[in-house]
Amino acid sequence: MTIDPVALAQTLIRCPSVTPADAGAIGVLADALESLGFCCERLISEERGGPPISNLYARLGAGKPNFCFAGHTDVVPAGDIAAWTADPFAGAVRDGMLQGRGAADMKGALAAMVGAISIYLAKSGPPSGSISLLITGDEEGRALNGTRSLLDWMSAKGERIDACVLGEPTNPERLGSTIKIGRRGSMTGRLVVRGTQGHVAYPQLADNPLPRLVRLLAALDDLTLDNGTAHFDPSNLEIVTIDVGNAATNVIPAKGEAAFNIRFNDTYDSAAIEALVRGALDAIGGSYELSFDVTGESFLTPPGPLARIVKDAVEAVTGLRPAYSTTGGTSDARFIHRHCPVVEFGLVGQTMHKIDEQVPVADILALTEIYRGVLERYFAPSR
Ligand SMILES: [Zn+2]
Repeated sequence: MTIDPVALAQTLIRCPSVTPADAGAIGVLADALESLGFCCERLISEERGGPPISNLYARLGAGKPNFCFAGHTDVVPAGDIAAWTADPFAGAVRDGMLQGRGAADMKGALAAMVGAISIYLAKSGPPSGSISLLITGDEEGRALNGTRSLLDWMSAKGERIDACVLGEPTNPERLGSTIKIGRRGSMTGRLVVRGTQGHVAYPQLADNPLPRLVRLLAALDDLTLDNGTAHFDPSNLEIVTIDVGNAATNVIPAKGEAAFNIRFNDTYDSAAIEALVRGALDAIGGSYELSFDVTGESFLTPPGPLARIVKDAVEAVTGLRPAYSTTGGTSDARFIHRHCPVVEFGLVGQTMHKIDEQVPVADILALTEIYRGVLERYFAPSR
């Protein structure tokens, strides 16, 4: 029995699973996987606070190695529904395009994974090892009770994965152009400088915090963090807001605040960046308050057997030799890489999170064939 990935993607899109809602999406996947012989564990996670999240771990076979496909069923909100040319949750196919929220990010890829497994099993029989799926309903939100919870649960059970392909939309314009082998880290710094409020005509009675804030920010803007590494662009610090909120031109304000975001490569971890930033601020002098919020550390799966397998499978179907990339925002690979090598390859991301999200049906079919090729190469006896 094989599963039609396009029909499955349509069924998934018809579940309006805007984070944290599941809306039946995990059940749709679990039903399809159970029909292929998978054991499905549905986990409701809420241990890190926030609303309960539906997650799924499915496994076929008990042997090693355990190859894992990972992804998420949740989607971002549709936005202005009236601006869509099609109902974002109807999953319609028009002019060869599958339309709807999640078509690209990433229900189309989830359906391609299941379709690929069904074709692989029909053709090659059970693998010499296991195939698993690690599916979360909490990727687009705060990612508190999603992949991390699943991985904790798996570790507690002694459940191991040996290699993982995550199906995020990695291709900017054309299917086959880009495989992601790592991501930059991301952290936001908040800087507060305090003074003493007063009348501008009597500055000797006040302490204006703004000149100090400007000097501190200029020092941050002048920082050269690094020149990039083998697989990463240079790290970058970007000042994103400066807030004083002072409407009166005859008042020296008591406080000025600013925030900056840093995307950093594998030269650093967040602690090293924090030390660097504090050093630059201390060199300017004066008092300040600084706090950081770390979204994710940088990580890299150095190109190795898994990346090569994915590259070969992509080239066999698309004729393109994909490039390795570490650009873009962060993803759940930041949690998975601590457990096993992980690379990301999925659909074309051009319309993700936008009005009229859509992907060519032909791309879903090609991605299905690519994922099947990954399984075939991974479980090939010669490896
Ligand atoms: Zn995504």
